[in-house]
Amino acid sequence: STAIVWFRRDLRIADNAALYQACADHAGVVPLYIHAPQEEGSWQPGAASRWWLHHSLQALDTDLRHRGGALHLRRGASLSTLLEVAARTGADTVYWNRSYEPASIARDTQIKAALREHGIAVRSFSGASWQEPWQLTTLEGQPYRVFTPYWRKLRTLIDASEPLPAPARPPAMVLDGGESLGALDLLPSIPWDGGMREHWTPGEQGARDALELFADDAIGDYATARDVPARHGTSRLSAHLHFGEITPKQIHHGLLTMLRQRRADRSVDIEPYLRELGWREFAQHWLYHFPQVTNEHFNPRFNGFAWAAEDPEALRRWQRGRTGIPLVDAGMRELWHTGWMHNRVRMVVASFLTKNLRQHWLHGARWFWDTLVDADLANNTMGWQWVAGCGVDAAPYFRVFNPVSQAQKFDPKGVYLRRWLPELRDAPESTLHEPWKDRGLLQQTGYPAPMIDLGLSRQAALAAYQASRG
Ligand code: FAD
Repeated sequence: STAIVWFRRDLRIADNAALYQACADHAGVVPLYIHAPQEEGSWQPGAASRWWLHHSLQALDTDLRHRGGALHLRRGASLSTLLEVAARTGADTVYWNRSYEPASIARDTQIKAALREHGIAVRSFSGASWQEPWQLTTLEGQPYRVFTPYWRKLRTLIDASEPLPAPARPPAMVLDGGESLGALDLLPSIPWDGGMREHWTPGEQGARDALELFADDAIGDYATARDVPARHGTSRLSAHLHFGEITPKQIHHGLLTMLRQRRADRSVDIEPYLRELGWREFAQHWLYHFPQVTNEHFNPRFNGFAWAAEDPEALRRWQRGRTGIPLVDAGMRELWHTGWMHNRVRMVVASFLTKNLRQHWLHGARWFWDTLVDADLANNTMGWQWVAGCGVDAAPYFRVFNPVSQAQKFDPKGVYLRRWLPELRDAPESTLHEPWKDRGLLQQTGYPAPMIDLGLSRQAALAAYQASRG
């Protein structure tokens, strides 16, 4: 018998339950990817995501070819494509791994019912997560709204002694007549992706290599190094996780194995890192239970908040890294150049936009959506609402990050600032963090004067917040 494995946000071969089971149950297996961005509602993949997707699909196809298969690529509506491929191949079952964004859940529910009406069975499996987003509830049966108890509960359920599934038998069917990867039109027409190519290797092997590098170099002092933007102190697995090129289970197993092999002499605490993966799962849990949050404040108290009017010029300066505030500009340029930004700096630039400039967090979320290679609806929405103060378990609104003291604390020598702000490369340490104090420096280098006074704008934001509380 024949089955289709419908790849979506699970672009890997290892630890892939749908692929594994399809290959175990059927002699013929067709690996299929359907490009259907129109089915992702108002959050269709942005430019940096599409770049990653192109390369990830290419890597998956290469891996499948090494195993005697090939990825059959199509574009169009998912349901009619599935029906057509099933009719052509005689497939009687479609296998997939679940994805949890609101638009995907609605689509998959509909497709499951329609396929069944056509006599085609559907088998769906857990996606790249430890738990399904609906599995954990509080004692009262409610969704969690605070991270720590959620994590405490989730942690008790994570068992690294559970083995990973054995490799799937290779899928054997190669189907002609699909689209070429180029025809999906995922790559930019103007080649602005040089920085991304330099920094990333999308695909399953790229994910494994990033994990190895992290285990070799950074996991040992992750708890402190993760806050230092100049260092390669975090795993940089976020885009790999988003596209399902690696799962939390594989990461956990992989870290334990690598550490056993390489660092038998040193005990390394991986808990702080696992906890961050827990935040990812918390975001999925939150989005599952409150799907409106992609466009609305989670905390309704903010519905009356006086955001400043949309200011295209201010937004443009923020986007291009020309605000005159070094840490903000360095972060925004890192994002533009590489498709990624360090987490601490994400918090700082988001605070600057939503508090100092008082622009609605959705303006920032949309920009990140288009420029991040790891753009992820759950994590991005949670991150933005968290910083803006209106999200789940959020930072209180009155916590306004001070980009100068943040830079002094986490980048005291200015290594990160100098890396991304060539104008300030030769600025003395004494003025690097507040270049406006040296007018000559601004004139010589062309680095902009601050677009806003940090202290006054902070006061104005706090006043707006007080006013909205009545
Ligand atoms: P590591 O520190 O190595 O963490 C490992 C993994 O844990 C990450 O890959 C990620 O999957 C998860 N993780 C870590 N921190 C968080 C967090 N705060 N929330 C949820 N999951 C987390 N992350 C995204 O993956 N996509 C986004 O679109 C995104 N947008 C963000 C927007 C804002 C405003 C903020 C403040 C944070 C955002 N984050 C987002 C969370 C975080 O910044 C990134 O996950 C992290 O920087 C990715 O780098 P890393 O893989 O090296 O992280």
